[in-house]
Amino acid sequence: MIVIPCPHCGPRNEDEFVCWSEAVPRPADPAALSDAQWNDYVYNHANPKGWVREQWWHERGCRRWIIVRRNTLTHEVAGADPVRR
Ligand SMILES: [Zn+2]
Repeated sequence: MIVIPCPHCGPRNEDEFVCWSEAVPRPADPAALSDAQWNDYVYNHANPKGWVREQWWHERGCRRWIIVRRNTLTHEVAGADPVRR
């Protein structure tokens, strides 16, 4: 079990969340990208071993997106932040 420290709700079991993907910066001007570049942004991620920033959705809680810092080897969680738009 992983405990995710939701910045809105506090510590919660991972079962309440959906892990989406690596948190990569959104392109400044998506309309300027080719289809191949957009496809690469949406689907191709580095998937590194070790510490990553990931987007998680608190589906069974506040229903907000958060950024979780998680080690993909150990599943240790170093913290979580609200998504800033
Ligand atoms: Zn929450």
